[in-house]
Amino acid sequence: IAKQRPDKDIFWYDESMAREQEAEAKLMPEICSAMDNGEFTFYLQPKCILQTGKIIGSEALVRWISPEKGFISPGQFIPLLEKNGFINKLDVYIWDKVCQTIRRWLDEGRTVLPISINVSRADIYSMDVVRILKGMIEKYNISTEYIEIEITESAYVENGSVIKDTEKAFKNAGFKILIDDFGSGYSSLNMLKDIDADVLKLDMKFLDLNPENNDKGVSIITAVLDMARQLDIPAIAEGIETDEQLKLLEILGCEYAQGYYYYRPMPISDYEKLVDDKDNVADKLIILKTRKN
Ligand code: C2E
Ligand code: MG
Ligand code: MG
Ligand code: MG
Repeated sequence: IAKQRPDKDIFWYDESMAREQEAEAKLMPEICSAMDNGEFTFYLQPKCILQTGKIIGSEALVRWISPEKGFISPGQFIPLLEKNGFINKLDVYIWDKVCQTIRRWLDEGRTVLPISINVSRADIYSMDVVRILKGMIEKYNISTEYIEIEITESAYVENGSVIKDTEKAFKNAGFKILIDDFGSGYSSLNMLKDIDADVLKLDMKFLDLNPENNDKGVSIITAVLDMARQLDIPAIAEGIETDEQLKLLEILGCEYAQGYYYYRPMPISDYEKLVDDKDNVADKLIILKTRKN
């Protein structure tokens, strides 16, 4: 029907946009009161040595656990918060909680492995993120080696001087930079000239090897991993779910992995129990040896 009447087509989009805006308008006050009520927390998803599954660190992933609605995934609210700027408040809250957790682990004499935090493009453009994080590091008296910064590749797309300057400032302050979702955008190759990345996190879509384009898919991951090796940047494969994916990446020489195959994101207390068992954790020497500095 829409094809026959272009004007109908336009009308239809308007309506769906209006519906979307309405849903967003309803969600925002809920998000605000949820923040005030402390309904946001983070889970930790371990990062592992691909071959052995031993843990080298984790990523903090925000979780909204609403008493009424239950579990709401970040995909449902992060893009909205990025659009209207509220992401800043949420991220600062999460980063503070992450630093506080590291402090507690140190105080409790636990195994302390680095936690990476997600820094959104919207944070970089509207706050002095480096100053804020340096402030938290000082407040909790922890080392920058425990906090790693994930910046998604797509943040580098436009012009990028703000992002590049921020990246340099993070590096100068002693933080490691992980390029998140690497390969998901179009900036991948060129950006690596300018960015002093410590780790590339390969986008999950590289692992989506459907039988029809399997050969091409494998060639592409091979090329990306070769390039990472040439540049001497370690790679973490994101979203490993199956034995086949693991075997392929092992053959291709990918050293690190994060995915449901190993562990799902989990509450902090579960993660603590996991790393309390030294058998699950990578040898300190391996961690130090394989991390560029
Ligand atoms: P991301 O940073 O790329 O995080 C990886 C996402 O992949 C997480 O989704 C994780 O749960 C999921 N994942 C991990 N392993 C697997 C797997 O084997 N299979 C599948 N299908 N998924 C896997 P999550 O937690 O829903 O977060 C989605 C995105 O939301 C994140 O992508 C990140 O961009 C954003 N995000 C999450 N937490 C924060 C935060 O605190 N601040 C900001 N600004 N963004 C965040
Ligand atoms: Mg991430
Ligand atoms: Mg990612
Ligand atoms: Mg992402």
